[in-house]
Amino acid sequence: MDCIFCRIVAGNIPCYRVAENDDSLAFLDIEPAAKGHVLVIPKQHSENLLDTKPDTLALVAQMVHHVAHQIDVTLEPDGINILQNNRPAAGQVVMHYHVHLIPRWNDDNVMKAWRPKLATKLDLNEIAAQLRAAAG
Ligand code: 5GP
Ligand code: ZN
Repeated sequence: MDCIFCRIVAGNIPCYRVAENDDSLAFLDIEPAAKGHVLVIPKQHSENLLDTKPDTLALVAQMVHHVAHQIDVTLEPDGINILQNNRPAAGQVVMHYHVHLIPRWNDDNVMKAWRPKLATKLDLNEIAAQLRAAAG
């Protein structure tokens, strides 16, 4: 499989490792948005959140929690963004499930994740009903 993160897991491509256990690996993003930008991945390949088993997501979440504390005590940021892109339309470039941890400092202007769209109460009622009705 031609997956760059699988190659990192296999040790065929180097990375700046931050933490590791049997199930997941944390390493520095090669093009960081901020000092200490870390990626956490499951060692087993999946493309995105939708095709990753919930148990695996839980293991990745534990590693994210661990790394967030590593970042917090070491770099002492004012905040940390945790974000995760699914499919190219959402900004996913590497098709191996990963979570970004981006340390933030007051007024750093690194990013604002979205601009609010005006929504009527009717829109919200309707979309909530549609989502509640969805199977699976
Ligand atoms: P995405 O946009 O898919 O959520 O983010 C992919 C991230 O992977 C990007 O921030 C990019 O800088 C990072 N990245 C891509 N290739 C490599 C690599 O070979 N090594 C590391 N450490 N990060 C990578
Ligand atoms: Zn992979």
